[in-house]
Amino acid sequence: MADPITGSQVVIAGWLVLFGLIHIEVATGIERVRRRVAGTSYFDLSSVWTFAAAVLLPPVLAAGVIAALYLHLWIRVWRPARVPLYRHVFTTATVVLAAYAAHAVVSPIGGVHGWPQDASTLGALALAVLLYVTVNTALVGCAIALTATGARPGDVLGHWDDNALELATLCLGALAAMALVANPWLIVLVLPPLLVLHRAVLVRQLEEAANTDGKTGLLTAAAWHHGAARELRRAQRSRGAVAVLILDLDHFKAVNDEHGHLAGDEVLAAVAGALRAEVRENDLVGRFGGEEFVVLLPDLPLERSGRSELHAVAERIRHRVSMLDVTVCTPEGEYTVTGLSISVGGATFPSDGGTLEQVLAVADRALYAAKRDGRNVVRIAPAPQVPAARSATA
Ligand code: GH3
Ligand code: MG
Ligand code: MG
Repeated sequence: MADPITGSQVVIAGWLVLFGLIHIEVATGIERVRRRVAGTSYFDLSSVWTFAAAVLLPPVLAAGVIAALYLHLWIRVWRPARVPLYRHVFTTATVVLAAYAAHAVVSPIGGVHGWPQDASTLGALALAVLLYVTVNTALVGCAIALTATGARPGDVLGHWDDNALELATLCLGALAAMALVANPWLIVLVLPPLLVLHRAVLVRQLEEAANTDGKTGLLTAAAWHHGAARELRRAQRSRGAVAVLILDLDHFKAVNDEHGHLAGDEVLAAVAGALRAEVRENDLVGRFGGEEFVVLLPDLPLERSGRSELHAVAERIRHRVSMLDVTVCTPEGEYTVTGLSISVGGATFPSDGGTLEQVLAVADRALYAAKRDGRNVVRIAPAPQVPAARSATA
């Protein structure tokens, strides 16, 4: 049978709830801005308190701390953001399970009792941190993989910096747990670094929002240019090749004219999804403007095999767009737009130009050729003719 809960454990639970609430309240200003820019991805950093509860308290009491903090988060952050309740309940349940897993690691060594003097306590704490992250990531990842169509590994497992942030938060949680046992007032020292960490997340999210096109979720033209120029420099250093595709929806004005601009926007988002789905994760996909898109494919083979690989990718995209059925909302009700098509022009670096602007200009000419040739076709710039070598006797 589980040991009875002691009075000192209830006091520790009270401190964790109190500081967790203070943290959420102080950070609400940052949260409001984050909610505006973050969409749905979200790290609330309250794992500082939930992890400390997991390693210090019996599981039932830790679950109580988690429930109290997540109820507060629901009232102050998630409900105003109109997040469905079932999602918040799922998140809370994953945190409780992660806390149980972390507790299972530290309980064989008798729990955490102040500053650890031996390697086994430190090792158990490190293992508890890893297990907490793994259980949480695996459960959330499963839910995303099962519900989001076309989810990429980065969406399922979290991006590298998201996971680094979670690890940093949990390290702070481990320090908070040790400090709390030594002297509860020491926990005050955890708040300033936690709030600075919180602001750092906001800056990253603002940066991401500034680089993302609102209608399609692709890179903005400026962000794409920045990333593409970096890839070209990398290719130059490694003497490799990269390629650029410019894609323009055919007769898109007719979609707007027939179904309205809002329906047109839905079609743009669906085409953007099709583009993303047909390229690799490290290819750069941007919205150039209007109904024009641009893709950069790094690490392409040089010369002819590079061009034929580029042609194959462009054909795949063209074919996928031609198969799209997009259900849009019109004033008359739902309508499925079919028969879309896209024209594609492509060029490669370094064969078609030594700078990004030169390669883009060549790809743009190829796109015009595709339009002239009847639309819904791919045109890759032909390999430039190498002047024949002069004979030694000439
Ligand atoms: P083409 O095959 O020659 O490319 O014909 P097109 O109709 O696609 O090209 P055109 O340049 O004549 O028209 C582009 C249209 O794209 C006109 C504009 O209303 C529409 N457009 C540009 N940006 C947006 C947008 O953000 N949302 C919507 N719904 N439409 C947009
Ligand atoms: Mg256009
Ligand atoms: Mg067009």
